[in-house]
Amino acid sequence: MSHFFLTEFDKRIQNFYINGREDLKELFEKIDETTESNCIKVLKSFQKHNVMISDFNGTTGYGYDDLGRIKLESIFADIFNAEDALVRWQIMSGTHAISLALFGILRPGDSLLYATGKPYDTLHSVIGLNKTSKNEGSLADFNISYYDIELLPDSKIDITSVLNKISKDKIKMVAFQRSKGYQFRNSISLTEIRLAIKEIKSKFPAVICFVDNCYGEFVNYQEPTEIGADIIAGSLIKNAGGGIAPTGGYLAGKKEYVEMAACRLTAPGLGKKIGASLGINRLLYQGLYFAPSVTGEAVKNAILAGYLAKKFGYEISPLIEEERSDIVQAIKFGNNEALIAFCQGIQKGSQIDSSALPIPAEMAGYDNNIIMASGGFIEGSSIEISCDAPIKEPFVAYLQGGLSFNYGQYAILKGFQELVDRCI
Ligand SMILES: *Cc1c(COP(=O)(O)O)cnc(C)c1O
Repeated sequence: MSHFFLTEFDKRIQNFYINGREDLKELFEKIDETTESNCIKVLKSFQKHNVMISDFNGTTGYGYDDLGRIKLESIFADIFNAEDALVRWQIMSGTHAISLALFGILRPGDSLLYATGKPYDTLHSVIGLNKTSKNEGSLADFNISYYDIELLPDSKIDITSVLNKISKDKIKMVAFQRSKGYQFRNSISLTEIRLAIKEIKSKFPAVICFVDNCYGEFVNYQEPTEIGADIIAGSLIKNAGGGIAPTGGYLAGKKEYVEMAACRLTAPGLGKKIGASLGINRLLYQGLYFAPSVTGEAVKNAILAGYLAKKFGYEISPLIEEERSDIVQAIKFGNNEALIAFCQGIQKGSQIDSSALPIPAEMAGYDNNIIMASGGFIEGSSIEISCDAPIKEPFVAYLQGGLSFNYGQYAILKGFQELVDRCI
């Protein structure tokens, strides 16, 4: 029998799932086409740069002339059509990567403008929006001002206000967050980012355009650096690490800006030149090699979760047929119990720590308590099936990842089973 595993699930789940597999066929084929294109892009770049077994030999100490590390950075730059890239396991998270771009490029007296509303929670302390983070060395401590322009009611960039703000406050850098973060809204498409950057550059050519690319890599045919972004940043325990990279982050973009970020990571004068790769190069290469496929599978999981949630009557974002710019599926549960049940079900269906019970708790960098279902091989990895949520109205879960559709879907069905058992 096909889908034999379904027998353990509620009859409604079984029916929705079977219909879903049929209804989503065409959409999944489109995703496969994007995956195929991105895989070939990665493979060709590996061949062009002649990746060799010896590139996986690590360096120690200062890590000068680490050929594998240097080549990997050239490959990232090539794939993202950027002048240069910084790809390091020493970048500890997405927040750290973004922080390197901000602190690396901005100077006292400069102004930063977020064109996509308030950024992701962990960036609030980086910018200095949280009163509690005084004297932690935020941008505010260095006299770098911050502004944001709220998105329009249809989740589009308010380009008129952005342009006005740039001229009024002499903005040095405009930042775009591609993914939705903990906001129940559409993510920002590359088309929209491209148009916004084009308008900004035509009027203010000196303004630096930065994109937080977390969760966006390989979801579309292009990356933000191919459509005008000066510099982008992301995490290697999300899309770009393919579930294989054990830790790390990257930046890609104009050579000058990548070097500035590198000088912030290491020290002025050292920049990209040092950084021992130890034995980690192969994992970063292999992660990049798998990244397009893993991302494609994650997008399918997101769509399946959205489809089932909609069948159960929950509001979702994005809608099933909407163009996607990231791997995140938001589901509005409307109450605490349902949200927690769903997250706990996801954990039950995960590969590691399936017997752990995630409960909401404080987390560094976040204002609200957060529940995080994350049963991955890599701690906290959210390219593996994971579901997290701030505990606040309207109780929205943000689901993402799944190293393969087959594994991810099971956890998703477990999420709905838990919901059925406890709440509906
Ligand atoms: C995950 C994420 C971040 C922060 O990355 P961490 O690795 O959790 O520090 C920043 N921005 C967006 C849009 C994200 O999704």
